[in-house]
Parts: sequence; C-alpha cells; structure tokens
Amino acid sequence: MDFTEVELNADDAAFQRELRSFLSELVTDEVIQHDRQTGDNFHEGVHLALGARGYLEQEFNTGTLAGFSRVRRRIWDLERRRAHVPWVTWGTTTMVAKAVAAFGKPELVDEVMPRVFDGTARMCLGYTEPEGGSDVATCKTRAVQDGDHWVINGSKMFTTGAHNCQYVFLLTNSDPDAPKHKALSMFLVPLDLPGIEIQGIRTVDGDRTNIVYYTDVRVPEKYLLGEANGGWTVLRGPLDAEHGAAPTVADGLSDVSIMAHQAGVMAAAVDAVAARVGQVDAAGKRMVDDGAVAYRLGRSAARLEASLSTPSIFGRVAQAQTMRDIAPDLMDLAGAASVLSVDSDGAADNGASEYAFRFAPLFGIYGGTLEVFRNMIAQHVLGLGKPNYSPPR
Ligand SMILES: Cc1cc2nc3c(=O)[nH]c(=O)nc-3n(C[C@H](O)[C@H](O)[C@H](O)COP(=O)(O)OP(=O)(O)OC[C@H]3O[C@@H](n4cnc5c(N)ncnc54)[C@H](O)[C@@H]3O)c2cc1C
Repeated sequence: MDFTEVELNADDAAFQRELRSFLSELVTDEVIQHDRQTGDNFHEGVHLALGARGYLEQEFNTGTLAGFSRVRRRIWDLERRRAHVPWVTWGTTTMVAKAVAAFGKPELVDEVMPRVFDGTARMCLGYTEPEGGSDVATCKTRAVQDGDHWVINGSKMFTTGAHNCQYVFLLTNSDPDAPKHKALSMFLVPLDLPGIEIQGIRTVDGDRTNIVYYTDVRVPEKYLLGEANGGWTVLRGPLDAEHGAAPTVADGLSDVSIMAHQAGVMAAAVDAVAARVGQVDAAGKRMVDDGAVAYRLGRSAARLEASLSTPSIFGRVAQAQTMRDIAPDLMDLAGAASVLSVDSDGAADNGASEYAFRFAPLFGIYGGTLEVFRNMIAQHVLGLGKPNYSPPR
C-alpha cells in the first residue's frame, strides 16, 4: 500500500486540475527568467493574480469555513511547488498577517487585511541587524515615543523582500534600560514613510535581500502591535513559525518539517545527476556502472530521503546539513561541466547540483543557523542545559 497517495473526491480532483492548469499558464518562462535575473523570489503579476482568485485568503483561513479544507491546502501547497510559483514574500506576509490579526488595533486590521488577501499589501521581516541576528532580542534599533507617534532610528540587515513589500514587521528597542525581553516593541511600519532607505544585496546563490536604514522615521501609534515593551509576546508566534517549532497537524497533510520546500533543490539535483550518470556514452558505457559512482549517488539519495523524512526542527537541521554534505559529491559525479550554472551551454546537469552547492550555506543560516538549532535541540529537547562557551579550566 502506498501511504503517500490520498484518494481525492470528485470536487477536490476538479480543484486540483483547475489549479494546475491555472498555475501552468500563470508561471510563464518570463516569470522564471524574471526570478533568476532579480533573485526576488516574487512576481507581482503572479501574486496579484493569486489574490484575485481568492487563493491567498483561502490559504490564510485554512481549516475554517472561509478557507481551504486541509486536503485542498495540501493540493495548493504541492501544486504551487510543482509550478515553481515564486513564494518568499507570501511566506513572510502570512507570518506577519497572523500577528497583525492577533495584535493589531481594529483600524489597522481593517486597513491591512483586505489588501493582504487581494495581494496589494505584502510584508517582510525586520529582525536582524548588522551587528547580529541569532539573538534577535539584543536589537539596537530604537523606538522613542513622541506624542501619538514613535520615532525610529537604526538599521536592519537581510530584510528580504522589502523592495516588493508595503510594510515591514519591525523589531525595535523601546526601553534600553529594561531586561532584554521586556525592552522590545513591534511595529508594522509602512515602507513608504519618509526616512526609510532600502539598499539591495545579492547573496552567493543569487537571492536578493536588503539592508534597510531608518532615520527619524515617524510612525503613528496605530502601527504599534500589542503593547509598548510587550514586543516579545507579539514576536513569539512568527518566530516559532519560522523556526518550525509550531506543531504540525497529525493528519499527514503537511510537510513533516519546515523548509521541505527548499529541500526540493537537493531532490532536483539528485534527480538531475542520476539522469546524467545514467546516460550511455559513445562507447556504450554509463558512468553509473562504475561502482564508486553508484555508491556515491546511492549514498546521496539515501541521505536525501532520510532528511526529508525527519520531522520538526530535527528535519530543519537534517535537510540543511544534508544539502551541504551531498552537493559537492553530486557536482563531482556530474563532472567538470557541473560548475556551469542553469541554462548555460554545456552545463552537465543544467546547473542543478551547482545551485544546490551555492544555496546550501544560506539554507543553514536564514531563519536561524544550524548551530543555533542544534543548541535549541540540545537545550529544549534533550534537556542538556544551556551551552557554556567559557574556556575550559
Ligand atoms: C538569504 C538570507 C535571508 C534572510 N532574510 C531575513 C529576513 O527576511 N529578515 C530578517 O530579519 N533576517 C533575515 N536573515 C537573517 C538571518 O535570520 C540571520 O542571518 C541568522 O539569524 C543569523 O544571524 P547573523 O547572520 O547575524 O549571525 P550571528 O548571529 O552574528 O552568528 C554568527 C555565527 O555565530 C554562531 N552563533 C551565534 N549565536 C550562537 C549560539 N547561541 N550558539 C552557537 N552558535 C552561535 C552562528 O551560528 C554563526 O555561525 C536572512 C539571512 C540570509 C542569509
């Protein structure tokens, strides 16, 4: 019996067919090229079209009468991946929109949520600063109250998608004298306010992210989420979601761990290299008939499968570590032409393993580094206590 198959009823099967056909027309070659050229992982036309069809609202409301059923949500997630819909900005928007719905003042919720659903309001995460991101609570960006406004000064590193968003979910320090978790305030800052400057950064894998400067930015009180100095409470939900610490539903209709989507990059690389080493050359030979090649490919495939089956935050670590470990092996197997990137003439595997190689370091950094995740597992799951970095006596 194949437990990976769900037998769809007629309505859900029709939904899947319609969605697949809609997405295949929407995500054109031009959309994919735009993504490669900009590194944005976002396409406004695609995003607005998904909003106009009501899909964004239905995803947000999954499991309620206004949203997808759990089965349709799974179909939606899998079909979007299959079609290579650019996804990063919707991912950050949903995380923030949940915090806005829970902690926003009613007038802010009314202003923002309908625009989240039609795709015209997008949101990015402003936590990390130039001097450090792992311990977000050490934030130095200052928010000072001035009548019915707050004045914000500071800078944020790696605010991915800021140039395609209307709001940033901004972590600030509003009381430098308080203990660090009681010093924070969260704002939903409109990115078109005077004093905000967004500068692009391209990462080694070609992604675009940003550094954002805030100089005397005057933010009306209505954009404060939750209580002043109560920002940690507001931030916890989105942080847990990003860390994959929120429990998955036990119906088998969700990924076993967060970032399974990104892990698809290494699945694509394993497939591409397997196809390459299985080709018959002019002498009638296949590379995979060499036992060393078969062994290394088999080991990569086994590690891939093991990491994809590892649940919760353990899976987050297993996938990123596995991508780092197997990408060099896959490039070796594909041969010297594997250094050529996607769509280059003569690329061994159309750049699949080369891309996995460049993406792997970032996969183990954003949303929390591998080292930090390993410490979380040690401390909170295995009960080993806080790590001690003092020199040995
Ligand atoms: C492509 C990309 C996109 C990103 N997008 C966003 C975004 O949209 N919004 C946002 O706010 N941030 C974003 N980030 C930032 C990301 O979350 C941080 O890079 C990450 O949390 C690590 O912080 P840092 O880079 O400041 O490293 P640091 O925190 O300075 O860490 C430096 C090194 O020290 C290690 N280290 C730190 N603390 C510990 C510890 N307690 N135990 C063991 N080792 C430790 C780390 O593992 C790392 O090797 C993005 C980063 C990248 C690369």
